[in-house]
Amino acid sequence: MKTIDQISFNGKRALIRVDFNVPLDENYNITDDNRMTAALPTIKKILKDGGAVILMSHLGRPKDGPTEKYSLKHLVPHLSDLLGQQVEFADDCIGEDALQKSKEIEKGEVLLLENLRFYKEEEKGDVAFAEKLSKLGDIYVNDAFGTAHRAHASTAVIAQFFPDAKVFGYLMAAELNNAEKILNGAAKPFTAIMGGSKVSDKIQLIERLLDKVDNLIIGGGMAYTFAKADGGNIGTSLLEADKLDLALSLVQKAKEKGVNLLLPVDNVIADKFANDANKDVAKTGEIPDNWMGLDIGPETIKLFSKTVEESKTILWNGPMGVFEMDNFMAGTKAIADAVAKATDNGAFSLIGGGDSAAAVAKFDMVGDVSYVSTGGGASLEYMEGKELPGVKAINE
Ligand code: AMP
Repeated sequence: MKTIDQISFNGKRALIRVDFNVPLDENYNITDDNRMTAALPTIKKILKDGGAVILMSHLGRPKDGPTEKYSLKHLVPHLSDLLGQQVEFADDCIGEDALQKSKEIEKGEVLLLENLRFYKEEEKGDVAFAEKLSKLGDIYVNDAFGTAHRAHASTAVIAQFFPDAKVFGYLMAAELNNAEKILNGAAKPFTAIMGGSKVSDKIQLIERLLDKVDNLIIGGGMAYTFAKADGGNIGTSLLEADKLDLALSLVQKAKEKGVNLLLPVDNVIADKFANDANKDVAKTGEIPDNWMGLDIGPETIKLFSKTVEESKTILWNGPMGVFEMDNFMAGTKAIADAVAKATDNGAFSLIGGGDSAAAVAKFDMVGDVSYVSTGGGASLEYMEGKELPGVKAINE
């Protein structure tokens, strides 16, 4: 893997694609800076080597060109604080001003470019736009794992203009190495915990994991499609009615491959989809009409936790219930505790990005697991075995 460790940045300008797509409140305060802090090791290493840094990113989904709300200038003060030095800003990502500023940049300095998605060419993967961006640096560094599954101008297409000077940043390298640990070389027993709303979103990953794992735990909304397929009553719980056969075939495949498939045996149910709903516990397949399962129940917590705690490798993708509502987060929290306990006992635990990462952050447990992926869609696609355009562009 070609990383920033294999290149000398002294006197060079590193053009780094980062993922600074952070949430901002109505006063443009950054409400979660994880994506910015995740890129700091790469930036600092290049500056320490005597390089200059030019950062490019997208922010939000601007539809019609430059929009105040999506300007990356709002990030400059906080980025300057994080780096302990003033960050320069170019109010366009291409054009005269950006070009001039990128020429004048000195060793140890940092320049942030305006939002790439102010140009529709970015998401289209336009070659001419990518070429214009490429003029701003000597070495291309991709450290934006969150967008690595997109073949955009700045994430993939641009790499062709740096045939001998394109490398992964530390965040990308960590993401790929940790995924590799799970996919090829997982210590046994290997347990995958799948949850979230839909089985259809994760079917490819589940099928792939059936060849690798010892235990497959299924919880969250997707479990109700399995319960229904088994002939149970699920009330008004989430259901993908067209996936009943698929659920049955997954159960069959798990059996054939000797995978221990664990499904919920009981559920916390609610009479409406709200935190203040009336609550009860029902066995799987015995949910009354007009009630819905919003979390795994206490017996299921015991069952799942035991398997998780005995594991040496854990992949977790998707919450066990509607963890955003405090009254239905106990299942997800208990599984997070079990993952933390296993990790403490020496297991390697990888939390897929997206909602499981949000849950672990909500419980303030990021430090209790081995690695939390920063990329939702990218992480899922990589685990499914797809080649990510952002990765391919550096490797080829
Ligand atoms: P996903 O994006 O597919 O990983 O799904 C995550 C979402 O699934 C979260 O917002 C959860 O609130 C939701 N979820 C988990 N369990 C349930 C459930 N039993 N019923 C409805 N939604 C659920």
